[in-house]
Amino acid sequence: MQSISGQDSNIDWTARLAEMPIPQSIRSNKLLYSAYSELSSNGRISESTGLLLMDDAPLSGLTTLALMVKRSKHSDEVFFNENLHVNTTNICVLACRFCAFRKGPRHKDAYQLSVKEYLHRIEPFAEHIDEVHSVGGLHPTWTVEHYAELYRQCKQRFPHIHIKSLTAIEIKHIAERSNLSFSEVIKTLKESGLDSIPGGGAEILVDSVRDRICRGKESSQEYLDIHRAAHRLHIPTNCTMLFGTVESSADRIKHLSLLRELQDETGGFQCFVPYPFLRDKTRLPEAQLASSNEILRVISVSRLMLDNIPHIKAYRMNIGDSVSQMALSAGADDIDGTVGHEEIMHSAGSKTRLDSSRADICRLIEDAGYTPVKRNSTYSEFETVASLVTERTVLPIIEV
Ligand code: SF4
Repeated sequence: MQSISGQDSNIDWTARLAEMPIPQSIRSNKLLYSAYSELSSNGRISESTGLLLMDDAPLSGLTTLALMVKRSKHSDEVFFNENLHVNTTNICVLACRFCAFRKGPRHKDAYQLSVKEYLHRIEPFAEHIDEVHSVGGLHPTWTVEHYAELYRQCKQRFPHIHIKSLTAIEIKHIAERSNLSFSEVIKTLKESGLDSIPGGGAEILVDSVRDRICRGKESSQEYLDIHRAAHRLHIPTNCTMLFGTVESSADRIKHLSLLRELQDETGGFQCFVPYPFLRDKTRLPEAQLASSNEILRVISVSRLMLDNIPHIKAYRMNIGDSVSQMALSAGADDIDGTVGHEEIMHSAGSKTRLDSSRADICRLIEDAGYTPVKRNSTYSEFETVASLVTERTVLPIIEV
């Protein structure tokens, strides 16, 4: 299948998988060998196999199988980009139970960036980045015109920077505030400079779970409809999964299956980004949380279930650099970017450093045993780089 960003997500990876030697950890386990056979012959495992893998597969064999599939698609390459996160506002009319980022409009730490302030945030980084990643809360008064102006001015000032912006719930909120359909919002914003859409807001695509952790957010169907609308307008998107709250293994597999079905239809997802809930004392006390082993298990099963989504990300901002390195041997092929500034995961307790340079990211990847490849936002331009040939760039710290 040729994706909308021009990537060929159906390269003959199954043939490559079938030619690989089968390690003892897979040969000696009936479940893993059966999953390997399904993948190397059909390129796909069933939902029931996915569920068994999530619950019962021994972790070392599971990660080995996921790494084999990753290698059959991307050899030993691991992708990253040079980007910056700029949140537009932390004011939000919703109050999802897992969210540590949102503030009420009168909270002392509430903020809303003007267009000028937004551009000012990008300015010091502009020379080093080719993507700005912008999401935010559901602002009570901003309509589509505000975002259109933001993207227009951003493109005028920084034409080389790809704008990846707006979660599905933001698009739904803008549509409601502007009396437009999802497609009309996306089309208007595409014409103003929006290049792609991140995957945030998927949480778990099972409405009974959503009702417990993020009541009032878009439904599972709406999340899929918004991404379908973007894909039809040739806007590539990512998709995510927030796990370790109150969901069951079956809920996780249902989530992966729904994303796989939409990808069969549109080919518009570039990357899947699974990340665990980060707890503090005030949010979702009943969350089951996820250990490092559980994180690696979810990443591995995601790689095996999502045969048609080309990239699986180890999201450093959430799981940290060390677990991200381990995830590269559990099926992930992307380690996110330099990021520069990040609030959503850091509000929730992440300690991942924010001053990583391109050389630092290369070093992380090389230390894990893989080859760093700098990519652009749509995975259509690549540059092989190495930590030793790149000078460390000291990036400014932004005070919020
Ligand atoms: S997750 Fe998004 S929609 Fe939910 S409260 Fe936080 S900022 Fe608002």
